[in-house]
Amino acid sequence: MPDRNEELRVARAAVRAAARVCRAVQQTRIDADTIEKKDKSPVTVADFAAQSIVCHGIQLAFPADLVVGEENADELRTDAQASARKAVVEHVCGELGSSVPADRVLGWIDRGGAAGDTERYWTLDPIDGTKGFLRGDQYAVALGLIENGEVVLGLLGCPNLPTPDGGRGALFSGVAGGEARSYALWDETDEAGTPVSVARVASPADARFCESVESGHSNQSDSAKIAGLLGITAEPHRIDSQCKYAAVARGDASIYLRMPTRADYREKIWDHAAGKVVVEAAGGTVSDVFGRPLDFAHGRILENNRGIVATSGAIHEEVVAAVRKVRGE
Ligand code: AMP
Ligand code: MG
Repeated sequence: MPDRNEELRVARAAVRAAARVCRAVQQTRIDADTIEKKDKSPVTVADFAAQSIVCHGIQLAFPADLVVGEENADELRTDAQASARKAVVEHVCGELGSSVPADRVLGWIDRGGAAGDTERYWTLDPIDGTKGFLRGDQYAVALGLIENGEVVLGLLGCPNLPTPDGGRGALFSGVAGGEARSYALWDETDEAGTPVSVARVASPADARFCESVESGHSNQSDSAKIAGLLGITAEPHRIDSQCKYAAVARGDASIYLRMPTRADYREKIWDHAAGKVVVEAAGGTVSDVFGRPLDFAHGRILENNRGIVATSGAIHEEVVAAVRKVRGE
C-alpha cells in the first residue's frame, strides 16, 4: 500500500482552511448572498470560498491532480452576483493572508470542474449539508481521493460536531486499508490525531441509526419501518451532511440509512467518497440499499448504486436484509 502521508497532510491543511472560512462566513449575514441553484438547492458564499481554498491547496501541492467539486463559478461571474463575488474574494484573501485578484479566486473554484474520468482525481463537497449550515446545524467539508475507481483517502471537516471535551469541531481522516483518525479541527498542530473505531453492537436492535434531517433526501418513513423490523427502539439521530458517516465511524451511531426518495436520483460522488472511506477505515461497512459496494468508476455520480447503508460492520447483512424487505426487493 502506498504511503499516503503527504496527501493526508495537504488534505488536512486544505480542509482546515476551508472550515475556518465556513466558520467566518457563518458569523456574517449568510442569507444576504445565498444563491438558489438550478436544482433549487442553496449555495452560499462559504461553499464557493471553501471550494476555492481547497482547489488552490491541491493545485499547489499536486499540480497535475484534477478535482471533481460540487460548485462552479459561472453564476458568481454574473453582474447579478457582484456582491456575493466580492464576499467570496474577501473571505479567500482573508484566509490566505494575501490579496488575490477575483479572476484567480474564481479560477480556483473552476478547477473543481473535472469529469472524474481520469485514473486519479480528488472529489470535494466544499459544504456538504448547506441546509444544515444555513440553520447553524451540522455540515461538513468533505474531500476524497480516488484512484482507479477506488476511494483511497477521505477527510471530513465537521465544524459544528460536538467533541468529547464539550467543544465543537472535529476532523476525520480515513485511508483505505489503513486507519481512521480524528484530529482537533481548529488546532493545526494536531497532526497525529487519535484512532477512531466503530461501536460494535451485538445486535441491530441495540443500534442507534442516523439519517438526513431533510425528508426530501432520504425516505424517513422507510427508515422507521426498517428500524421497527430490526427492533430498534432508540429515536433516529437526524443530522445533516456526511457528519452521519463521522457519527458511525466514532461510534455515536451504528447505522446510517439513506433511503431513496425518487427512483431516478443518483447519489453524487462528493456526498459519499470521504464518508465511505472514513467509516470503512474505522472498521465499518458501506454499501447501497441492495448491499452492493459503492462504484466510483462512473464520473460525477454513483450510476450503479441506489441509496446508502453504512453500519459498524458485523450487523451489515442483517440491516441490508431488513432494507430489502421494507423496499419489497
Ligand atoms: P444530507 O445532509 O444527508 O441531507 O445530504 C445533503 C446532500 O443531499 C446534498 O449535498 C445533495 O447533493 C443531496 N441530495 C439532494 N437531493 C437529494 C435526493 N433527492 N436524494 C438524496 N440526496 C439528495
Ligand atoms: Mg453535499
